[in-house]
Amino acid sequence: MGLAGRKEMLSDNDQQAVADRLRRQLAQLTEESAKNEKILRRAQRLELDLLEAEDLANLFHQIIDGLAASYGLQQVTLVLCDPDHEVRHLLIAGGNQPEEFRELKFVDGLSGLAPQYVAMRAPWLGSYAAADHQLLFPGSVALKSVALIPLQRQGRLMGSINFGSDNPHRYTDDHFTDVLAHLGTIASFALENAVNRARLFRTGSIDVLTGWHNRRYLQARLKEELGRSKRERCMVSCLMLDLDNFKRINDSHGHLAGDAVLREVAQRIESEIRVNDVAARYGGEEFVVLLPATNLRGANVIAERIRGAVCAEPVEMGHGVAEIVTLSVGVAGVMPENSENDLKTIGESLLAHADVALYAAKSAGRNCVRQDPPK
Ligand code: GH3
Ligand code: MG
Ligand code: MG
Repeated sequence: MGLAGRKEMLSDNDQQAVADRLRRQLAQLTEESAKNEKILRRAQRLELDLLEAEDLANLFHQIIDGLAASYGLQQVTLVLCDPDHEVRHLLIAGGNQPEEFRELKFVDGLSGLAPQYVAMRAPWLGSYAAADHQLLFPGSVALKSVALIPLQRQGRLMGSINFGSDNPHRYTDDHFTDVLAHLGTIASFALENAVNRARLFRTGSIDVLTGWHNRRYLQARLKEELGRSKRERCMVSCLMLDLDNFKRINDSHGHLAGDAVLREVAQRIESEIRVNDVAARYGGEEFVVLLPATNLRGANVIAERIRGAVCAEPVEMGHGVAEIVTLSVGVAGVMPENSENDLKTIGESLLAHADVALYAAKSAGRNCVRQDPPK
């Protein structure tokens, strides 16, 4: 039977009821699509705000306060994995104090912070559970549901934006997560951009905290020194120095005290080396000193002298407390053959040997010097 036939079978009243129902459905759909469009437009506006943030501080502010206000959330926090404290220092270099951002948490690693971080690829939505989520929402009151939005960089998890709501139905595991996943992608991109800009702003080669040259400069100089060593037929040695149990200093005295210790130790190292030695801050609490025209015996002597100078006097931790700080040193040396052209690989190998030696010094109980290959 065709439509026309079916229509004939419906009474006028029935036809009216069907028409009313269709009209209601249409109105509902229109309303829903207008609502969705509003949500989408708001999300786009927020994402643009993130992308347009002019510096790290502004971006953090947009993420934390901007998103909380727009979405009407009780708490928005940002967790960033920053084991070398690079982002934290870039923030400081830009004239801000990380402590100003109460909802921003820098961590050395994500594991242990919340079980959801294990293999988190997409936003996680669900009920707030204090045992699982209290580290992500410090000082939270009465949160009922949460959304954890991963921030990724080249496929690696680098943190998360965390939404906390007092409404238990706001985030449940049957919600669509597309809009939140998109927000995460944009925020990751904005963050990487802001970090890169801040780095460029710091113009390349000086470490903000110690005023020493940084790793990038070291790598350039290393090639130069290897070239000289090859031409002049003398060994170049390398010391890799790493503070012992430095994490404990941060944990018991705070990051600012940790920073002050790094500066003081850098000064003590500097006072033991010659002007043509190349000193660089290689990583968080790791330094490298290149010793041109120095053989392994000489390098061991200097390493031992530095080790002794660092632990000779207690270091001020603030609040009138001072403690002995020690470091371990790995020593390696090389003299490239005349035929050798790949100085980059030789440089990498020199650093790798110094690192192996450093590891040996740590294994031997710390506060000592080792070389690789061993004596
Ligand atoms: P080890 O003796 O084995 O070297 O132990 P460690 O605790 O020194 O080593 P680990 O690598 O576990 O910890 C290094 C710590 O250094 C962790 C990180 O938070 C801290 N750190 C790195 N860079 C900075 C910085 O610029 N300032 C401060 N305050 N801490 C930093
Ligand atoms: Mg250390
Ligand atoms: Mg280290």
